[in-house]
Amino acid sequence: MPTTKVVVNIPGESAYDVRVGAGALDRLGQHVRATAAGGKADRVLVITDSNVAPLYLAQAKRSLAAEGYRVSDITIPAGEDSKSIAVAGEIWEAMAACSLGRDCVVVALGGGVVGDIAGFVGSTYMRGVSVVQVPTTLLAMVDSSVGGKTGVNLSAGKNLVGTFNQPTYVCADINALSTLNEREWACGCAEIAKASVIDSDDFFFWLLDHANQLAARDEGVVQEAIVRSVVFKADVVAQDQTESRGVRECLNYGHTLAHAIEKLSGYGTYSHGAAVAEGMRFAARLAADLLGTPEELVETQDELLDALGLPALSWSASPADMLDAMKRDKKARGGQVRFVLPRDVGNWELVEVSDDILRAHLQQWTASKA
Ligand code: NAD
Ligand code: ZN
Repeated sequence: MPTTKVVVNIPGESAYDVRVGAGALDRLGQHVRATAAGGKADRVLVITDSNVAPLYLAQAKRSLAAEGYRVSDITIPAGEDSKSIAVAGEIWEAMAACSLGRDCVVVALGGGVVGDIAGFVGSTYMRGVSVVQVPTTLLAMVDSSVGGKTGVNLSAGKNLVGTFNQPTYVCADINALSTLNEREWACGCAEIAKASVIDSDDFFFWLLDHANQLAARDEGVVQEAIVRSVVFKADVVAQDQTESRGVRECLNYGHTLAHAIEKLSGYGTYSHGAAVAEGMRFAARLAADLLGTPEELVETQDELLDALGLPALSWSASPADMLDAMKRDKKARGGQVRFVLPRDVGNWELVEVSDDILRAHLQQWTASKA
């Protein structure tokens, strides 16, 4: 099956390609060479993690070396803990130690953790070198590799330090997903489902019709789901690159409750995707109550999430603790919790929800788990 190219065109930025399809990794070198900064570079640094390195590092390096690049690599420990200032510091030092100059290219080979820290390191080393994203998780392909948000975590919270810096090329090779486990697969599916509800009837009902095939990893459906998600994300980012125009917030659908679930259940207990799916179920019910959103959306979305392997959680916490966690979230403004709520598929609103209403919904939510 041929690969698909999506062009990301953000006002004021150089346009870049996202290449989606089986075998794209073997042509990584050619595509890096063809991008503006890669054309004159002769050094490439591949940053990857300890799970991805044994699987895809040699293939990526081979493709880059075949284009004449001198390729170095750094492997960081897999996992969210690596998204730290300490690890970023080690990478900066290593880059300087091997005399990488401003004209080098940083290639991020891995999931969102590698993408975020490599993007951050690349956008700050010598005030910024070119960054190429090679996402290897479904979540990174459909979400984190596109849009230019980079960052690391602080002990006070996630993603508190970072930059907006667009990559010069994104290479999403579907073959790399063959080694991804079910939990990580479902994480990507949750972000695809999120995008479809916010985007349009066309995307949502297509996904509903193909959810079983996406869960079964049918190649054609996987490719189309990634392409549709990338087109959606690129469009959102083009309208609001730095989250200042009130458009990019839509990417947070399902995430208000999800962040509280992840925090209170202990990070890692439930996957991010499982928490986001639960957050979408909650938000849709809130929307039905506050905005008169059709019950049909609530039910159809439940059906979609079930089919994607994202069942409702049996876990809950007390409404008071949930409310408290949501108020402490960095996305809350002035202690007021805000939700992205769908009025209907393809039509969303950012709504400040009063504590009383939220408490009542959280009570219902907790009771439904008893
Ligand atoms: P991740 O990078 O931790 O990857 C998940 C796991 O899969 C890791 O253990 C990784 O080693 C492993 N892995 C990666 N590719 C694999 C493959 N092909 N086969 C087998 N195992 C593989 O997590 P993620 O879910 O990809 O990304 C989550 C991160 O992305 C978070 O830090 C989040 O903050 C960030 N994020 C950023 C943005 C953005 O816009 N920048 C958007 C969403 C999420
Ligand atoms: Zn998410």
